[in-house]
Amino acid sequence: MKQKATWIKYNTMQTRDLSYIINELGEEREHYFNAIAPPIMQTSNFAFDKVADLRKAFEDEMSGYLYSRGLNPTVDILRKKLAALDEAEDCLVFGNGAAAIFAAVVANVKAGDHIISVEKPYTWAQRLFDIILKRFDVTTTYIDGKTISIFENALKDNTTLIYLESPNSWNFGIQPLKDVAALAKSKNIVTVIDNSFCSPLYQKPITMGIDLSMQTATKYIGGHSDTLGGVLRGSHEMISKIFNCEYLTAGNGISPFNAWLLIRGLRTLPLRLERISKTTLEVFNYLKQHPKIDNIIFPFDEEFEQYELAKQQMSGACGLMTFTLKEGTCEMITRFCESLKHIMMAVSWGGHESLILPKCAGIPPTDFDASNIEHQYIRLYCGLEDPMYLIEDLQQALDKL
Ligand SMILES: *Cc1c(COP(=O)(O)O)cnc(C)c1O
Repeated sequence: MKQKATWIKYNTMQTRDLSYIINELGEEREHYFNAIAPPIMQTSNFAFDKVADLRKAFEDEMSGYLYSRGLNPTVDILRKKLAALDEAEDCLVFGNGAAAIFAAVVANVKAGDHIISVEKPYTWAQRLFDIILKRFDVTTTYIDGKTISIFENALKDNTTLIYLESPNSWNFGIQPLKDVAALAKSKNIVTVIDNSFCSPLYQKPITMGIDLSMQTATKYIGGHSDTLGGVLRGSHEMISKIFNCEYLTAGNGISPFNAWLLIRGLRTLPLRLERISKTTLEVFNYLKQHPKIDNIIFPFDEEFEQYELAKQQMSGACGLMTFTLKEGTCEMITRFCESLKHIMMAVSWGGHESLILPKCAGIPPTDFDASNIEHQYIRLYCGLEDPMYLIEDLQQALDKL
């Protein structure tokens, strides 16, 4: 039997502080009849008594409530909690994660600039670099990003932004965050990370010196597959600059109702992540020793090539793993995925429900190359179900191969 991965309990924040952030921070209940659940401030605009006050709001829209494309009280409760969870000064919440990526990147490049990005970032980040920014003469170099020297070698005189995704959500590649942050600071380069995989509970990039930490709230924060959201955290200076330009201009802030759903999701985030992490480990240990499974990738597996770095930077590994079948043909992968009875086939992750996603679904059948291990990838997300319920489902599907 192969080695078992070790379960590491999250300990990044004092439980006391975490409880305070989730239950109290930002909630000024005296303003709404001491209601436990905050109201959904479903309003587009806010009234003023004095012209001077209205003028002040025009001058600095971040100073108060003027119009809900900017600030909204329900969204502000969420902002305060999400900033605190990442130990960041400030935060903006967007309608989805892709919008947060767009704002973070576009705010920090101009025509002629060069970006260093970790290879195979989230699909829509890559589309931004390859198609949209290219039109504005911004070029991107993709690197595997596993060591700091790879970053050093990719630097150019016009590099203004380094884009990270650690871990990557398919192969779980990790970048040395503290070293990258130090290198970037020494060259006046802005660093942006997609921290969706770990959530701020298990990895805090801002405390490692990264400038802007992005996370999709659609996944773990919402946690129920019923809303989208995107978070961007950083210094007050960087966040207010983005607020006054990209956020208000693109108009893709989160709606009060969706913000309210995310506040509700936050109440149970630590519990859900703890449960998901334990289940994932049980499922991982089951799959790792299964004779029909070939490779299995999980950052907290002692055999993972960046295990040591993963343990240094992350205090938990959550619910995603990627594996390949011994017989990794498109037909076998299809048969396996379609044989699952409880684990549903869908994009996304982070909700209550376990999901399977075969990479081959995104590849035209004629382009499928069985010698390319990535084409064989099957990604499993473990949700809140009983571990045995999931293992039995995987078992019966593997038995059909
Ligand atoms: C889902 C996802 C995003 C985008 O978030 P949306 O809320 O779907 O826009 C970004 N990065 C990663 C790693 C994701 O999995």
